[in-house]
Amino acid sequence: LDYASYLKGWIRTVPDWPHEGVMFRDITPLLQNPKSFRVLIDLFVHRYMSEQVDLIAGLDARGFIIGSVLAYELNVGFVPIRKKGKLPFTTVAEEYVLEYGNASVEMHTDACKQGDRVVLIDDLVATGGTMIAGYKLLKKLGAEVLEAAAIIDLPELGGSKLVRNEGLPLFTVCEFE
Ligand code: IMP
Repeated sequence: LDYASYLKGWIRTVPDWPHEGVMFRDITPLLQNPKSFRVLIDLFVHRYMSEQVDLIAGLDARGFIIGSVLAYELNVGFVPIRKKGKLPFTTVAEEYVLEYGNASVEMHTDACKQGDRVVLIDDLVATGGTMIAGYKLLKKLGAEVLEAAAIIDLPELGGSKLVRNEGLPLFTVCEFE
């Protein structure tokens, strides 16, 4: 069994959550099992350990779980990209469009410096809106975003294509239809 199929096997699908018609891909079993959690983190560590990375940026909220452990293992710092209204210091924000209405993500203005080499982490790419908003924020702060990474891609929603069309390389471990 290859690592991608192994990890995919630890993702649970919850039908009709948070509302009818949605197949929610739940990574909590993957995180809860010590072996799958380690295989996941090791996969990301091996991908970036030979690259010159200055910082890991994680998207609210599951990007924090993976991103912080990855940052620790790479011996670099971690910065959160949070949903609106959560960060206490001065922030920079990026709005994006959701299925119903708008959302926005924020970073502290001193979260990264001009030229910092950053990897952007989340658990899943659906429409790509969240990942692209995070990318735009990092660029506003002058970061050089090397790559975005997530565990899951939902290719039928077209988000991974949009992310790559923005000029941001994207690495994902597995796909669900
Ligand atoms: P997007 O902005 O449409 O690409 O949605 C991605 C964001 O929504 C990520 O932050 C995900 O954590 C969350 N998300 C959307 N669908 C799912 C799902 O099925 N499982 C887990 N997270 C999801």
